Amino acid sequence: MDDCIFCEIVKGSVPCSKVYEDEKVLAFDDIHPMAPVHVVIIPKEHIATILDVSEDRMAVMGAMISAGREVARRKGIDQNGFRMVINCNEEGGQVVFHLHMHILGGKKLQDGLG
Ligand code: 5GP
Ligand code: ZN
Repeated sequence: MDDCIFCEIVKGSVPCSKVYEDEKVLAFDDIHPMAPVHVVIIPKEHIATILDVSEDRMAVMGAMISAGREVARRKGIDQNGFRMVINCNEEGGQVVFHLHMHILGGKKLQDGLG
C-alpha cells in the first residue's frame, strides 16, 4: 500500500525498534510512547481498520493477540498487567489507517476507557 507508514515499516524502508515478528505480524516500540511500555502490533498485510478484516482473514486477529501476550512477556509487564487497545476510525482515535493493536503497561494505567 502506497503512503502507508506501517507498510513502509514492514518493508524495512522506515526503521523501527522491533520487539517481535512472525510470518503474520510485526511488533515495535511506539515512536510517541504513552506509557513506559508502549508497543504497536500490526499485520504484515495492509488492512485499514478492524472493520476491514474479512472472515477468511480472521486468523490475523488471533496472531495479533498471541503476539501481544508474547510482547508483554518480553517486556516483563505480563504479571503486573497491561492493556491491549485497538482504535477504529475518527472517534475511536485511529490516526494510522493500517490496523494495529497497542500494548500499554509498565505503570498503573488510568482507570476508564474514555
Ligand atoms: P492510532 O492513534 O492510529 O491508534 O495509533 C497510531 C500510533 O502509531 C501512535 O501511537 C503513533 O505514535 C504511532 N506511530 C505513528 N507513526 C509511527 C512511526 O513511524 N513509527 C512508530 N514506531 N510508531 C508510529
Ligand atoms: Zn499499510
